[in-house]
Amino acid sequence: MNKIQILVVEDDAPIRNLITTTLKINEYQSITAMNGAEALMEITSHNPDIVLLDLGLPDMDGIEIIKKIRAWSNLPIIVISARSDDRDKVEALDAGADDYLTKPFSVEELLARIRVMQRRIVLMQESTPGNSVFTNGNLRIDYVAGTVYLKDVEVHLTPIEYKILCLLAQNIGKVLTHTFIMQNVWGAAWENDVASLRVFMATLRKKIENSQNGVQYIQTHVGIGYRMLKIEG
Ligand code: CA
Repeated sequence: MNKIQILVVEDDAPIRNLITTTLKINEYQSITAMNGAEALMEITSHNPDIVLLDLGLPDMDGIEIIKKIRAWSNLPIIVISARSDDRDKVEALDAGADDYLTKPFSVEELLARIRVMQRRIVLMQESTPGNSVFTNGNLRIDYVAGTVYLKDVEVHLTPIEYKILCLLAQNIGKVLTHTFIMQNVWGAAWENDVASLRVFMATLRKKIENSQNGVQYIQTHVGIGYRMLKIEG
């Protein structure tokens, strides 16, 4: 039995049953909540490893639940939303969600997202604050020296590219919104300039991905943001 326990927050019974059945078949433990109040209660009493959170709940908006959870916990949250509008996903991610799925979704997609979160949990446990070197596949960042390597060849990044890469690395597995990246990279001087961010991202990716035979470190979420993927093996 998989030791990962997943809280499924969903008021729609057929969808909730589909998810819990899928989890059971794949040897995950699950607990359920039908509304926001129950969700918060289950989290405090059972301390699950991952939350699958429907945004449209009868008693509370999903965004409010995310904010409440984030006030005291880093618990990975995957938002499940019927809302196809990118602004809702961005709002959920900015409130602290780690990832999102749009209804309708396939069970394969759901399981893939859960696996990303499982890797994220392992990485969060491994990365102690004092850890000065980050590695992912052939990519290595030496935070103390401020240098980046692919295999053992140094990659020359501009200061902005380096800051973006470090931010993605420190949040590996999590989808970061354009706004989050711009605020963190440019600080107080940040402007809402997604076009510039795209340019920096393109040059960064060219430097770390093009020579790597198709290895993709950074995933683009159109209209939303970017995520660093954990490279297997
Ligand atoms: Ca719902």
